[in-house]
Amino acid sequence: MEHLAVSTAPRPRRRIVMTSPPTEGPLNLVLFGPPGAGKGTQADRLALRYNVPKISTGDMLRQAIQDRSRIGELVRDTLDRGALVGDDLIISLVGQRLEQPDTVNGFVLDGFPRTIPQAAALDALLADRGRVMVIALVVHVDEVIRRLSDRGRADDEAFVIRERLAIYTRDTEPVLEYYRRRASVTILDGNRPTDAVTEDIEAAVSTASGPSPRNS
Ligand code: ADP
Repeated sequence: MEHLAVSTAPRPRRRIVMTSPPTEGPLNLVLFGPPGAGKGTQADRLALRYNVPKISTGDMLRQAIQDRSRIGELVRDTLDRGALVGDDLIISLVGQRLEQPDTVNGFVLDGFPRTIPQAAALDALLADRGRVMVIALVVHVDEVIRRLSDRGRADDEAFVIRERLAIYTRDTEPVLEYYRRRASVTILDGNRPTDAVTEDIEAAVSTASGPSPRNS
């Protein structure tokens, strides 16, 4: 099977894939990319810019751990190891979050979906809520390791980083292939400075959202 190596691919041109006609309706954005790609930072900015909530599954899980909730206790070891929590659990968390009324005009998803079953579940959850637009950030693997090592989160130790990257390649990268046939997918160079990446994402969103309202 042809393999699109997001974390290790050479620098792409400014925007290399744009696979679908414009969409209308809610802005259902999925930010995709390896750990350290800058998804969280970009998701914060996009949420502000488009006035939609950021939904970060990593943040939700870390909050649950901090709150010592039942879910937090269930997932703590998994996060420490850098493994993925079970699909059923994360799908139900996201499903509940998407029932909140603040998501009616869309959302920015950061860290979900990370497996093909999660992507299929998201399709089902969004059945009559408009299409998904996927923004994938390509970042060179050396840059990913450098950024994560600098970040210093509990799961950013060298051996955990290696595990998370291996899981990314095995379980998460195939999700992009899944979307290439079903959604609008834009692949951007995430190696560049944060502001430049934000500009590219906003350009991609306005292209995919179609022309602005008619003048007449
Ligand atoms: P990163 O910044 O490395 O992309 P996140 O903050 O998105 O990491 O996620 C941290 C951890 O939370 C992951 O390593 C994984 O254990 C868990 N996690 C987050 N999202 C998911 C998901 N969609 N499916 C399974 N596990 C997840």
